[in-house]
Amino acid sequence: MGDIPGAREELDRLGRALRAQLVVLIADLTPGSDPGLLFLGEPAIVDWHEPLRLRYSALFRGERPVNVSAAGLASRAAALLRSAGWEVAVPEENDGVRRHGVVTGRLDGSCIDIRAGDHTSAVMFEGRTPAMVLHTPQQFPRPDPVRTPGTVTPGYVLCYECDGLGACPGCGGRGWVPDRTRGRTDCPECHRGRVCVICRGPGQLALSRLSPYQRGHYPESGQGLPQ
Ligand SMILES: [Zn+2]
Ligand SMILES: [Zn+2]
Repeated sequence: MGDIPGAREELDRLGRALRAQLVVLIADLTPGSDPGLLFLGEPAIVDWHEPLRLRYSALFRGERPVNVSAAGLASRAAALLRSAGWEVAVPEENDGVRRHGVVTGRLDGSCIDIRAGDHTSAVMFEGRTPAMVLHTPQQFPRPDPVRTPGTVTPGYVLCYECDGLGACPGCGGRGWVPDRTRGRTDCPECHRGRVCVICRGPGQLALSRLSPYQRGHYPESGQGLPQ
């Protein structure tokens, strides 16, 4: 996995621009709010398919001034966004219900939603940058086994489940397996435990502690496993 040159810088630039625009909107539309409470945090993974895509997002709740209607706030929000170069959509109707207090702005792949309603004093500001690929696809080589026939401890046999791998043989020790819809899903064998569920990681099992059932996994030795 390698960094894609300039990608993180570009995402950070978009994050800063998004935050700056949100601060302007919050200060103007919900005066008295503290925009210092607006956090972008770290970019979060939005899609677990390789290559992973990340974006910044932020959510802020302000209070609508008592003398401003939801529709008035929405039209002011639309004007502010347009004057800053954002493309603005104001849904007039949605399933027959008029939604005067909803405004969506888009710029450079970033998106800002502002929601207000006459039934509530809350004004929700939601912003997100585009989701960007920051790293080349990660490779997950299968780990080397922790035990081999040559390095197994005297009195032990290679684990019949992982054959000395130690790591979970189902996922190679990642804890997850690729999933077509979600990108990744918990490993059905180790359930994120990452190690082999039989030997718990050492890759070998003590002969003296094998159950009769477990001895059945070593038929080449019959009942005559070395003691
Ligand atoms: Zn596993
Ligand atoms: Zn094992």
